[in-house]
Amino acid sequence: MFQKILIANRGEIALRVLRACKELGIQTVVVHSTADADAMHVRLADESVCIGPPPSRDSYLNIHQIVAACEITGADAVHPGYGFLSENAKFADILAAHNITFIGPSGDHIRIMGDKIEAKRTAKRLGIPVVPGSDGAVTEEKEARRIAAEIGYPVIIKASAGGGGRGMKVAHAEADLEIALQTARSEAGAAFGDDAVYIEKYLEKPRHIEVQVFGDGFGGGVHFGERDCSLQRRHQKVWEEANSPALNAEERSRIGGICAKAIADLGYSGAGTIEFLYENGEFYFIEMNTRLQVEHPVTEAITGIDLVHEQIRVGSGGGLSVKQEDIKFNGHAIECRINAEDPRTFTPSPGTITHFHTPGGLGIRVDSGVYSGYKIPPYYDSLIGKLIVHGRNRVECMMRLRRALDEFVVDGIKTTLPLFRDLVGNADIANGDYDIHWLEKYLAKGE
Ligand code: ADP
Repeated sequence: MFQKILIANRGEIALRVLRACKELGIQTVVVHSTADADAMHVRLADESVCIGPPPSRDSYLNIHQIVAACEITGADAVHPGYGFLSENAKFADILAAHNITFIGPSGDHIRIMGDKIEAKRTAKRLGIPVVPGSDGAVTEEKEARRIAAEIGYPVIIKASAGGGGRGMKVAHAEADLEIALQTARSEAGAAFGDDAVYIEKYLEKPRHIEVQVFGDGFGGGVHFGERDCSLQRRHQKVWEEANSPALNAEERSRIGGICAKAIADLGYSGAGTIEFLYENGEFYFIEMNTRLQVEHPVTEAITGIDLVHEQIRVGSGGGLSVKQEDIKFNGHAIECRINAEDPRTFTPSPGTITHFHTPGGLGIRVDSGVYSGYKIPPYYDSLIGKLIVHGRNRVECMMRLRRALDEFVVDGIKTTLPLFRDLVGNADIANGDYDIHWLEKYLAKGE
């Protein structure tokens, strides 16, 4: 087992990882920018190292500074959290070259999944169902026309290097294709320095369902069920559930089994998430994330298993603490992402939190790095906390969520709490009847 882990992140996820390390009796080092000197993860860690000024590229993305912090403190492993360097293959390779364990998959696996064309090709080869579309990059308009006619309109043009929903264009008919192809390519070139694009069938009313997988580091793979993350705004997840209200136990174990086998065949190590669009009973792979997800606590709530403990165990060569047959799904869990944003316009609302009171009681978990008197720096993303609620079934979970949202107090800044108080009373949400476009339509109506 590791002696000392350096946590290369900030905010709620730095604290989340720190808690797991403490439970396992592992020493913790955190790195932070000058803007985060008063952050909770810095206060609670055994050691902290300031690695640079506020902009992420000079601090949380500065590989040399982070490796130097490992050397100075004698850390034998790095947990990257999510975002920042968590899916940076070069970072994983550099750590390996310094004999420091990157708690995550190999640089090669990160690289494959970071290129969406390569990821899709790999998924297909491993027997994972994919969205019908081109086999690789498409450059010629003639070829695009042929593929689109074959799979049928509407189609979506997507950037191979894509991320964050950028570089995607929908063509509803042949007349839109040329312009969609050109715009997607120029957007992709500008955003990612790589203008390779590919074509897929555009699904009109899918749900976003993702499967949590783990490779044990010895060639074995398991799945921890799925999460439904269909409630999104601008391709950003807002509310996540486990299990999905749309799946039954048989569908869960079928898609979970396919994913677990694929992970084993790939020789993957550590946590990963295989993301699908789900429509009319069919799954279509869109991408794989090679890290811990923001929404992992809903899976922890229904399985009772600490996924960060498992990441650390696998990273240290100790394998998983559970086999597939030990993983049971118990009840229902929902996570609300609470952002420091205006709940209607979603413009960021940094500033000082004058009063912070979190709900409690059975089935309630709040993961947050903020506190009363905390000043939110304007440099980073606006997530200030996650409310995770568990109940014996979805109805009980929703009742408890409504109560917990009523108790939650964040004064001094605007937050998205009022949006969740509205959603919890909505009939479609109560029925679990929503797809990936539901939230945007709801917000556009201004209800
Ligand atoms: P990114 O890496 O940029 O987030 P993804 O491939 O994960 O891109 O897709 C992001 C979102 O775009 C999906 O959650 C979905 O809302 C939409 N999307 C992507 N591919 C399709 C498709 N083939 N049909 C319909 N919507 C899609």
